Amino acid sequence: MRKATGLISLICIPAAALAFNLDGNRWPDAEATFFVDIPGLAPSGISWNDGFEDSLAQWSDETAFSFLINSTFVDPCEGYSANAENMDFPEGNGDSFNGVNFSDDVCGNEFGQSVLALTLSIALPGNLGFALIDQTDILFNNAFSWDIYSGPRRPEIDFRRVALHELGHALGLGHEDNEQAMMSSSIGNLDSLQADDIAGADSLYGGPGDCAIADLSPNSVIEDSLVEGDCAVLELYGGGQDTSFVDTYRINLETETRLNIMMESSALDSVLIVTDEKLNGVEFDDDSAGKCDALITATFPAGEYLVLANTFVEPFKCPGNTGSYKISISDNSLPILSKASSASGASSKSIFHGGATADGMLYKSSFLPSETIDVSASIQPDPLHVGQSASFYTLALLSSGQKLAKNSAGKFKQINKLSSIPAFSQTSALAPLENFSILKNLKAEAFGVSDLTIQIFLGYSLDAAPGEIYFNGKAITLAIE
Ligand SMILES: [Zn+2]
Repeated sequence: MRKATGLISLICIPAAALAFNLDGNRWPDAEATFFVDIPGLAPSGISWNDGFEDSLAQWSDETAFSFLINSTFVDPCEGYSANAENMDFPEGNGDSFNGVNFSDDVCGNEFGQSVLALTLSIALPGNLGFALIDQTDILFNNAFSWDIYSGPRRPEIDFRRVALHELGHALGLGHEDNEQAMMSSSIGNLDSLQADDIAGADSLYGGPGDCAIADLSPNSVIEDSLVEGDCAVLELYGGGQDTSFVDTYRINLETETRLNIMMESSALDSVLIVTDEKLNGVEFDDDSAGKCDALITATFPAGEYLVLANTFVEPFKCPGNTGSYKISISDNSLPILSKASSASGASSKSIFHGGATADGMLYKSSFLPSETIDVSASIQPDPLHVGQSASFYTLALLSSGQKLAKNSAGKFKQINKLSSIPAFSQTSALAPLENFSILKNLKAEAFGVSDLTIQIFLGYSLDAAPGEIYFNGKAITLAIE
């Protein structure tokens, strides 16, 4: 990830360089709706609307990008006005609709010398090395004689091939003068999209490049690392300027699923990104509870998704942009608790969940003394532990300094040393998911308490190794105030 900088950017004609040029901008969702209602017919008898819609359809049919059509007229200059300071760009931020029309000028400014048409593009700062396109408008210069025809160039300008070219700018392509392309900076005999044009659009919207993708199941823990030689975001996305390393995972959801995804690392500043299978539409987090870890909790419709384990190009808040990380992913409805820990620091692939709620719906950490609080938690033990006999423990640390542990009768009793913590429950075979009600109907005011913080931990030990307790390193916290 690259920190987005700057504000809105307005571009007209981007510069050329290598094969299929990207102009550094990208639509967030691989689609855009053009408002198309251009009155009149070309001398050939074909309507300007049909010519423009043919061009939209070529891009939609032959590339991973989709132009949608709304046949309402929207003035492409709405929201723009003459700019006395800068002769190249009109002033303003547009109207957020994608419009098209013939025009005598560029919303009050002159068309440049021999400019047949122009695409105005508004992009907003994005975090993955691209600016995100929000709006484009296309203006065809009335100073030229226009027609619609196929084949070699004639004195009249073919509207359809110019529309194809401008729509390439609208979806994020720059000029390409080294390959045979509609995105050439000058008009020629080509009248349809070329392989280079299609490759350019597909590199932006066709999904992940040649980066390796590992399959991920909805309940698992992965331990890996971001290291020199891994794919960078700009390779995965086929463009942009984000050189940070990224590992890519694929997850397939058969039904709508609420997922908790947590990325933890002590070596790097974790950034977690979830996209659809084509890298569009982004959920991301870089800052779980003000820490270096990242957490995404969201409900995803059935479908295929990519989970990207990423970091910052330049470490931003926490040190490091390479090193090992751990991702825990779970479809448990309870919030995930970071840092599965053990007494000896042994690594485990256990996932701990838990939360406190007063209404049964929203998990939160701050409560009024009058609220009735329930605390639930669950453990997905390390797969290596499943099936073994085990004991369960829960511990409440009070801001008053007291330590309370639940006993086998289900009562919280004070303990003096952590080593004397009793098991509250046992099992002869650990299940893949163990659910617990830790507290039920706790009402602080019933105990005359009005200002107290309680931190709750849940743990288990294997009876084969009773000294080693695996627990949530981050507590379920209840602040009563
Ligand atoms: Zn151009």
